[in-house]
Amino acid sequence: MARRHADLLGRRQPVALLALNQVSAEALAAAHTALFIASTYGEGEPPDNALRFSRRWLESRGRGELGALRYAVLALGDSNYRRFCAFGERLDAALAARGARRLFDLVRVDRMDDAALAQWQRGLARSGLLEDKQQLPLSQAPLREHPVLRCRLLERKLLNAGSPGGPVYHLRLSPPQNAAWQAGDIALIDIPSAGAARPAVREYSIASIPSQGGLDLLVRQVRKPDGSLGLGSGWLTAQLQLGADIVLRVRDNPAFHAPRTDAPMILVGNGTGMAGLRAHLQARAQAGHVGNWLVFGERSRSHDRLFDTELMAWQRSGQLQRLDRVFSREGEKLCYVQDFLTAHTADLERWLQQGASIYVCGSQQGMAPAVHRVLLDLLGERGLEDLTLDGRYRRDVY
Ligand SMILES: Cc1cc2nc3c(=O)[nH]c(=O)nc-3n(C[C@H](O)[C@H](O)[C@H](O)COP(=O)(O)OP(=O)(O)OC[C@H]3O[C@@H](n4cnc5c(N)ncnc54)[C@H](O)[C@@H]3O)c2cc1C
Repeated sequence: MARRHADLLGRRQPVALLALNQVSAEALAAAHTALFIASTYGEGEPPDNALRFSRRWLESRGRGELGALRYAVLALGDSNYRRFCAFGERLDAALAARGARRLFDLVRVDRMDDAALAQWQRGLARSGLLEDKQQLPLSQAPLREHPVLRCRLLERKLLNAGSPGGPVYHLRLSPPQNAAWQAGDIALIDIPSAGAARPAVREYSIASIPSQGGLDLLVRQVRKPDGSLGLGSGWLTAQLQLGADIVLRVRDNPAFHAPRTDAPMILVGNGTGMAGLRAHLQARAQAGHVGNWLVFGERSRSHDRLFDTELMAWQRSGQLQRLDRVFSREGEKLCYVQDFLTAHTADLERWLQQGASIYVCGSQQGMAPAVHRVLLDLLGERGLEDLTLDGRYRRDVY
């Protein structure tokens, strides 16, 4: 979205596009207009590319030094979370406290809601930043930088029959022509929805790398409280026929791309989070990087051994140095990935000391914040921040 703003606004005036971590106090004080597009993660946290800015600037005390700055904040969030848009709100309040002047009130966007985006667009037009007829392509409309790819559903397999959790399907799509992606990237899939002018779009972590000859997905079938299937997961796992066409785009996701070194990698995840981790394990196998430790959580030992044959083969060949699967419904007491890591912090510390990166993929509710807390306890705020800024702590959580 920030890139789209910069493209359009840059036609009328010079625009610098920066991640918040690249913005210094001096640059802010020298600017006359700034637009902030601020998403919120987990418990009201900033995204990783705003972490350093948040710690160094937001938490320092302001003294009205931004008197020359005009600004607006577009806060992106999801109202299912308790601290909806909290980072955008903090940013907005801190800018005002330092004397910066709002062009218009903070706009909160709930899951890319079109009405809020239109409000933002009107605010920019009223402030003279956009001409009335200029339209920011803000909604989920296809991105120019994401070419449309067509492929077919080749195979679909239920991986967890009998599981106490929702059914998880492995889908293999024919390799889309001219598609280039790498481990960590996301597929944006067009989901036909009856009566709607354009298809809905759902995101899925890609579970394979191109050299495997297909684009794999791991999709949990969502069932809503009224018994009906989720729009996207229902279409992919139940309605879509084998051989049928799928329209998708690949979203480059550098925040979850592989480490550039052969240093060890700790892969942590649960449920369909296995998708992103599997693509990384394939890429590591291809590159001959064997220092891999997978910690994966699901519910039942007998039903939830996703990609068991593959993982066991990797373990036998030495590709997966360590494999720990944590099944929450097995013992007397519920035990999750985060509990396993808490009980094995000495190993975690040793791997990190050897330069390991830690990649987390799966649930934003429960697993990811809990793993984050384990790492905070182990490394402290500064240590975890350093690990993040080094690109050694990466998350693909939803
Ligand atoms: C970066 C990213 C990666 C992802 N990767 C994966 C992946 O690898 N695998 C995977 O399975 N998913 C993944 N997801 C989640 C996926 O995008 C979808 O959100 C998921 O499949 C559910 O979409 P749906 O269309 O089936 O459900 P929807 O129909 O959109 O429903 C979504 C949720 O909203 C609730 N809901 C919707 N309508 C109602 C209603 N009327 N009343 C009450 N509740 C309602 C349901 O409980 C449901 O859980 C990812 C998401 C992101 C953002």
